[in-house]
Amino acid sequence: MKGFAMLGIGKVGWIEKEAPKCGSYDAIVRPIAIAPCTSDVHTVWEGAIGERHDMILGHEAVGEVVEVGEFVKDFKHGDKVIVPAITPDWNSLEAQAGFQMHSGGMLSGWKFSNFKDGVFAEYFHVNDADGNLALLPDGMDPAAACMLSDMVPTGFHGVELADVQFGDAVVVIGIGPVGLMSVAGAALRGASRIYAVGSRPNCVQIAKEYGATDIINYRQGNIVDQIMDKTSGKGVDRVIIAGGDVDTFAQAIKILKPGGRIGNVNYLGEGDFIKIPRIEWGCGMSHKTIAGGLMPGGRLRMEKLASLVETGRLDTSKLITHAYKGIENVEQALMLMKDKPGDLIKPVVTM
Ligand code: NDP
Ligand code: ZN
Repeated sequence: MKGFAMLGIGKVGWIEKEAPKCGSYDAIVRPIAIAPCTSDVHTVWEGAIGERHDMILGHEAVGEVVEVGEFVKDFKHGDKVIVPAITPDWNSLEAQAGFQMHSGGMLSGWKFSNFKDGVFAEYFHVNDADGNLALLPDGMDPAAACMLSDMVPTGFHGVELADVQFGDAVVVIGIGPVGLMSVAGAALRGASRIYAVGSRPNCVQIAKEYGATDIINYRQGNIVDQIMDKTSGKGVDRVIIAGGDVDTFAQAIKILKPGGRIGNVNYLGEGDFIKIPRIEWGCGMSHKTIAGGLMPGGRLRMEKLASLVETGRLDTSKLITHAYKGIENVEQALMLMKDKPGDLIKPVVTM
């Protein structure tokens, strides 16, 4: 079969590979909607997880089941399914401890385009099908549903990690598709003020539609000064980080009130250390918490998030700015993710 792969750090291309084989608890899926992720960009062009050779890229997909293993109970040939980017091993001790995204070792619930071939192929393999697939609800657009694979659960996980409460003032640093879902999630969780940090005009417009009350342009001045100015020097209750770099954490600590929480979902592709400013961290006694996490993945989360789309509480279609038809266009879609033109939020390719 044909697949679009990372050939090595900084190199991508089409390759031929044997189609994946189905294990007893697994499924083989044919993609019907796929999307490239900024994480693919970190992986390929920053070499963020190290060298990978001829590994098929992509971890965001909606597809059709073509084969299931003998012990799979709830899915069959022909089912249309949402596939989460993170597909944990649900029998692992890490999953039993509540950290299924780290099943088998740190970040090891993230399998597609990390430890095994991803979804930018004619077929892909899903481990633990009953635990990781979710039926695509009748009538749901596969492209909009594809945002449930990674963008919605990751953005929402930032909200969970920051533990947003009713009435909180929240800063969301980064309003690409992930940060936009953090804005939407913070609004659903009852934040009062949502300060969205970004610059691309499309993202700014959509951030307002998802519930941002204030926009902070980090290119037009220091974030810390702008937030402290808008909060009369008090700072905010929660900060969600969905963009920026290792230096963003120092800014986040500075704008946080004592007792506040940072929820980071940004994939730090570069830099060796994160610095915490001593004074603003209360000389170690500020009760300011930093939580960072890979999104949890799995079937239940997919089903619950899909129900938000079904009931009209969340419209994921606003994220899609570029739509392509035909798998051959995944290359162009990935290059858009790399170059981030001003009108881009998220590209999707349907088959
Ligand atoms: P985008 O690149 O589309 O968005 C990044 C955002 O951060 C943009 O709004 C950008 O602003 C802003 N930004 C960039 N630099 C700075 C800075 N120095 N200070 C403040 N804001 C800045 O990324 P995505 O939304 O696609 O993804 C966000 C991150 O989430 C990525 O690192 C991705 O790899 C990661 N990710 C993590 C997952 C997880 O499970 N934890 C899963 C999926 C993704 P501008 O408007 O100027 O572009
Ligand atoms: Zn991703």
